[in-house]
Amino acid sequence: MRFDVLTLFPEMFDVMHASIIGRAIQNKIIELNLINFREFSKDKQKHVDDTPYGGGAGMVIRPEPVYDAYQHIVSSLTNKPKVIYLSPRGKVFNQQMARELAKEEHLILLCGHYEGIDQRVIDEIVDEEISVGDYVLTGGELPAMIVMDAISRNIEGVLKDESIEEESFNNGLLEYPQYTRPEVFLDRKVPDVLLSGHHANIEEWRKNKSLEITKERRPDLIERRKQNG
Ligand code: SAM
Repeated sequence: MRFDVLTLFPEMFDVMHASIIGRAIQNKIIELNLINFREFSKDKQKHVDDTPYGGGAGMVIRPEPVYDAYQHIVSSLTNKPKVIYLSPRGKVFNQQMARELAKEEHLILLCGHYEGIDQRVIDEIVDEEISVGDYVLTGGELPAMIVMDAISRNIEGVLKDESIEEESFNNGLLEYPQYTRPEVFLDRKVPDVLLSGHHANIEEWRKNKSLEITKERRPDLIERRKQNG
């Protein structure tokens, strides 16, 4: 999977080189290209923003540097990659969307800043707007990293397959509690069934715990499961 990120703050993406995603980049399962669209500003001072037409607080990113950076990426390509604008107005991101997007070969992620981006370039190049939740962040960089991390976990070779299958949301439920050594920690004992070696009972216990936690914390997921049969 190739990710091209259009951003004014490429240095924020250093954290993508740590841990599991970092290893996937090193192993060339994932390619991450950071394009600072400030470099495409024709302004002497490399400004990319301006005051909003109609008045109001804050600054808006001008359309030209974003469009020119986008053209720079796609001009040498034969297939048009899907372009995602990270935006609080987008569809709220979830595991199903992460799985679907993991099937793409190439994604371009556009990160806004300040009051956002001039609508005309969004209309021209963006295929999908994605939000990471009903709150406003200062920029699209953290959302882009969240989206890339969640997508990457669903790409073959990034994780061990069984790690994905048993995780929260993949069967429409939250995951059961996990335990490791020691058997007793601060007088809290690991549930006996997990020490029994009885695989059917362990599976049954995990399923029940998963249902219990989901009913308690996310009844909406139980409802959705019922509707989906
Ligand atoms: N004025 C915009 C509004 O009210 O919808 C908010 C702009 S926000 C301060 C700046 C940028 O951060 C946005 O262009 C977007 O790229 C990103 N952003 C902020 N919150 C986000 C969220 N919940 N999900 C995805 N991106 C977000």
